[in-house]
Amino acid sequence: MPFYLAVFAFGAIIGSFLNVCIYRIPTGKSIVTPPSSCPSCGSPVKPYDNIPVISWLLLGGKCRSCKSGISARYPLVEALNGALWCAVFLRFEPDFTSAAIYAVLLSALVVITFIDLDHQIIPDSISIPGIPIGIVLGSFFLSDPFMPSEQLGWTSSAAGAALGFGLYYIIAVASRGGMGGGDIKLMGMLGGFLGWKGVLLTTFVGSLAGSVVGLGLVLFSGAGRKTKVPFGPFLALGGAVSIFYGQELLNWYLSHGWR
Ligand SMILES: [Zn+2]
Repeated sequence: MPFYLAVFAFGAIIGSFLNVCIYRIPTGKSIVTPPSSCPSCGSPVKPYDNIPVISWLLLGGKCRSCKSGISARYPLVEALNGALWCAVFLRFEPDFTSAAIYAVLLSALVVITFIDLDHQIIPDSISIPGIPIGIVLGSFFLSDPFMPSEQLGWTSSAAGAALGFGLYYIIAVASRGGMGGGDIKLMGMLGGFLGWKGVLLTTFVGSLAGSVVGLGLVLFSGAGRKTKVPFGPFLALGGAVSIFYGQELLNWYLSHGWR
């Protein structure tokens, strides 16, 4: 148990860094320097005020210097990343190599989700290097999330990257801009990590979740048909579902599915 507490704490500390990435990557600022400061008054965040989740609670969600509000999203991202890291280590135990790689992938998906929500872009600085990194790690180091006792292997990984990129390229062309270039690169990246089955499940889950949320927005918030809903967060959700439930969903499908 102390092990998983440590995994949560480390995941939450990384979550604090993810907040910096979410805030700075779209502006082109360095994610390393300068150290974090209050967006309102500019005073630097003291190390003892930078403890994930806890500092925000102790400060009552306010800057120590100027007392202006600090978004609850900061501690939420930290807690979310800690929880995701815990969950992925529990899922792949004792294969900690796969667990660690998928933990980093999930963190990248958290950053992509919030940047896409804020700016309707998926940063190339994550997705483009993510494609070759996904293929290399998927080919040689990762176990198959659909069969965790086996290696994913280079055929499934390379086929996944090609399918993810190709399928979403076709959708982007066919939908005339309904799907963006960022989604194409993101799916190329996810395909390398998750294999071709992961691309299919991610697409299924992403479309389903996207339709439900889109319909909800139209019905309950008065959003029009033309309201742009970024698709990246739904693809990220689909990728996470593939990592955590791919095996169970595949088994369920094979025993209940249409044949
Ligand atoms: Zn301040």
